[in-house]
Amino acid sequence: MTAHAISVQGVSKIYPGGVHALDGVSIDVRPGEWVAIMGPSGSGKTTLLSILNGLDKPTSGRIQVLGTDTHGFGPDDWAVFRRENIGLVFQQFHLIPYLTAVENVMLAQYYHSMPVREQALAALERVQLAGRGHHLPSQLSGGEQQRVCIARALINDPKIVLADEPTGNLDEENEARVLELFRALHGEGKTLVVVTHDPEIGCAGERIISLSHGKVSKDSATAAGARLATVGGPPGSSGDPCATSAHA
Ligand code: ADP
Ligand code: MG
Repeated sequence: MTAHAISVQGVSKIYPGGVHALDGVSIDVRPGEWVAIMGPSGSGKTTLLSILNGLDKPTSGRIQVLGTDTHGFGPDDWAVFRRENIGLVFQQFHLIPYLTAVENVMLAQYYHSMPVREQALAALERVQLAGRGHHLPSQLSGGEQQRVCIARALINDPKIVLADEPTGNLDEENEARVLELFRALHGEGKTLVVVTHDPEIGCAGERIISLSHGKVSKDSATAAGARLATVGGPPGSSGDPCATSAHA
């Protein structure tokens, strides 16, 4: 049986206080697939991503990542698993304010293996921030800070990149740069799961999963995904939210 990159099986999450943030969610993501998670505020997107990276636990249901059943994982197992396999990009940048851009990237490297300044600088170059390594976060624009975060997420060469509203705080130009980076990562075969409000970001991927009140309300290939689908893969895209905004 071929392993999915991510397999979510009947996952529910009830927060203390009784909020049903996720209610029986099942999703399989192929290796190398680029999936967008969309849905209104409060529909459970961040909760799902937090469960996928082990920062939160489901109340019930199972998660397999890269063929590994994470059921018995404790925080330390997750920490090891994350640093070997997962890159995280948040809407809030979470950069250490008194460390420079390159030091922020090296800090992530430190958790992974050994900080190597040259590698951290190369990661910054990759996100078009060569020459800005010695700047503090406060000396960088929001778009540049987000790209430092992406460099930081990529430093361990993760197989899976999880991003929560990565362009939520960005202007159009920086949004386009982040989209370009995602395209490049997808081209390298990384699995991307991107939570977004932005149909343009969502439609750039292969598949959009919509959440509503903690349930999957829709799961369909985008026009781009339908083109890429292998023979016997998912059929077209009726009601494709991208149909009007797709660029030929
Ligand atoms: P989204 O990212 O789609 O906006 P969230 O996953 O953040 O949605 O939230 C889903 C639901 O769970 C919301 O009703 C939210 O208020 C609730 N929720 C999120 N985090 C917590 C928490 N730590 N404690 C209690 N309720 C929470
Ligand atoms: Mg959210």
